[in-house]
Amino acid sequence: MYEKRSDRLRPAVVVDLRSDTVTQPSPAMREAINRAELGDDVYGEDPTINRLEALAAELTGKEAAVLVVSGTMGNLTALLAHGQRGQRVILGDESHIFRYEGGGASALGGLVYHTLPTAADGSLPLDSIQQAAAPSSDTHWAPPGLICLENTHNRCGGTVLSPAYMADVHAIARDAGLPLHLDGARVFNAAVALDVPVSAIATHVDSLQFCLSKGLAAPVGSIVAGSQPFIERVRRVRKMVGGGMRQAGIIAAAGIVALTEMVERLSDDHANARALAGGLAAIPAIGIDPSRVQTDIVRFDLPADGPDAATFLAALREHGVAMSSLGPRTVRAVTHYGVEAGQIDQVLSAVRAVLAG
Ligand SMILES: *Cc1c(COP(=O)(O)O)cnc(C)c1O
Repeated sequence: MYEKRSDRLRPAVVVDLRSDTVTQPSPAMREAINRAELGDDVYGEDPTINRLEALAAELTGKEAAVLVVSGTMGNLTALLAHGQRGQRVILGDESHIFRYEGGGASALGGLVYHTLPTAADGSLPLDSIQQAAAPSSDTHWAPPGLICLENTHNRCGGTVLSPAYMADVHAIARDAGLPLHLDGARVFNAAVALDVPVSAIATHVDSLQFCLSKGLAAPVGSIVAGSQPFIERVRRVRKMVGGGMRQAGIIAAAGIVALTEMVERLSDDHANARALAGGLAAIPAIGIDPSRVQTDIVRFDLPADGPDAATFLAALREHGVAMSSLGPRTVRAVTHYGVEAGQIDQVLSAVRAVLAG
């Protein structure tokens, strides 16, 4: 193996807080992958996938669930299964679906994005949802097709939507005759933060997508859950976009470990994020609202008279710490499996050193 010269000179990243997607599979996952019983899943014959999908349906309290390649494919297949070409998807202007998924539902499904302003806590104002969802006989308008929420909210910094708020949105959706889909990439973080089972959140939506590959630490995969007829439509769209996999029980085996062994430990990530936020709040140059640090994501702002995010991140990396940016002066750090409580002080020292110049 050749080593790039730049890699040899650069200090190794010791604490990687860019995302919870950088997690390595646990030893139990590697063991489960090794032992997994496999079959052709396009024929419905992979026993490990069938077990994972049944477990996911049970945990979310939905009739059925299906394994997909990624969160992006989960949202895409769900949106195409819910909406018809020319219909509007009502969603937040800071949502992952709108900002980071290549416009897939529009490009591939002919859906129109109708974005609503996102509040700092990740919610969308109820009156704006109601207005957007109202049926109209005006022939100028693209008819509404579905509503989407995101919990926890990525760009808002891992904020948690309350079940009461979600119930209110669900009532609006029902009154308008529209399905409500949840981008729940990190819905298990929300459940752990609220100290409720994930089904207590999922009960307020018609469908949801969640990632096995983020804080739950599996190497690959997401789940879409919902009613039986909806999941049958998702399977059809999944095949159409090339997501029909064969002996993917290799993936599902790690997913089962993720759902059975990796949920409760998310509270460790949340405690580490709170500790990091507390330390950052004590640095006068940094703008942060610790009350918004509710799960594994820490979002903070750099001072206007200091380095911008790109300069800050490059300097931080020289100290062995990696983070990512959410804007020109906004930084995101995500705690996860593999980051130890003892490393938070090291991260804070690195941040202080960089800001001291
Ligand atoms: C990561 C993420 C996704 C997409 O998941 P991938 O597996 O990376 O495609 C969707 N929604 C939210 C909120 C996310 O954070």
